[in-house]
Amino acid sequence: MTDCPRCQTPITADNATMICRNCRKDYAKTIHSLKENLQLLHQLSLREWKTGQRQGGTTSEPPAPVDLDAVDLLALAQDELQEVAATIGVYGDWRHIMRRLPARLADLARRQDAADSLARLENVNRRLDMRINPRRHEPFIGVCPDCGYPLEASADALTVDCHRCRSVHMVQPIREETRMMWESRYTTQTPASLCEWVRDQVGVKVTRKQVTDWLRRGKLPNATRVGDGWWRFQVSEVMALLGKE
Ligand SMILES: [Zn+2]
Ligand SMILES: [Zn+2]
Repeated sequence: MTDCPRCQTPITADNATMICRNCRKDYAKTIHSLKENLQLLHQLSLREWKTGQRQGGTTSEPPAPVDLDAVDLLALAQDELQEVAATIGVYGDWRHIMRRLPARLADLARRQDAADSLARLENVNRRLDMRINPRRHEPFIGVCPDCGYPLEASADALTVDCHRCRSVHMVQPIREETRMMWESRYTTQTPASLCEWVRDQVGVKVTRKQVTDWLRRGKLPNATRVGDGWWRFQVSEVMALLGKE
């Protein structure tokens, strides 16, 4: 008899999973909710391009420095999802993964890292919820250095409590860390493969000619040539250009 690593309930031997029955139910709920939230976020990202509205801010409040555009957040969520899905041999974009995961819950729950994977998906899902339902939350500022849980704080807060592990942190270093992490996200692609990448990530059509035009006209100042047609693109720069032609 071992304890569930997530809630410390003893797990009976016939369970054959690494997490307890209740946590397994939570896992199923998280996957279900994540699927809905990804779809909502995708719609939100399309709307934000159409209206050219960036950072979600139309009020007189100063924009939150680390509040990601819906499109950026979708790319981030997909990265996390892909890492969890890869542990059970599922590969593809978020739509494909979300179609597969519900039927593969037993495999996820059997893995040694089941509690960690669940925590990662819960973290992502909370990030999405903060973005989709901003009125229910203070702005997102970053993740807890101790447990990875998303942290929210008002613009003038100096410290922040983690709702999961109860630790207390200074706000400023967390904001800084988040900004740096986001600015350092890159993807290495050819102009043609970048079009595919954009379509997979956010469902928007870009042509190879548009990408080469951007490069020629200096619209992607942080893109660097890495040899033989391949470029290292800064994700946030690419996302900022979509829908602006
Ligand atoms: Zn449990
Ligand atoms: Zn924490």
